[in-house]
Amino acid sequence: MQKVGILRCQQTEDMCPGNTDFKVAREGKLAFQETGPVEIVGFLSCGGCPGKRAVARAKMMVDRGAEAIVFASCIGRGNPIGFPCPHFESMRDTIAKRLECGVSIIEWTH
Ligand code: SF4
Repeated sequence: MQKVGILRCQQTEDMCPGNTDFKVAREGKLAFQETGPVEIVGFLSCGGCPGKRAVARAKMMVDRGAEAIVFASCIGRGNPIGFPCPHFESMRDTIAKRLECGVSIIEWTH
């Protein structure tokens, strides 16, 4: 079973506990259809705007076994209020540059 670390938006923590992220990861659905069910090794926020802490937090999860970094859909898709993160591409691209070889990025969850 693949291990993943999930990054979420700090701005939406007070309106979403992330239950659907856990559900689709556990069941291998939606963004996890290709991987099948995954084990979540970390579920951390970006640290707040503009998301610079997400880079170190992604690395921390990789150091603890994550084979993929997943952006929860609150970031890229703006769930649940339809307001995507304006810093998503910067976070994703910076993390991708710094990740170890073999660690993949999944850009959404549900
Ligand atoms: S940087 Fe993006 S993901 Fe992080 S708190 Fe701000 S809006 Fe949310």
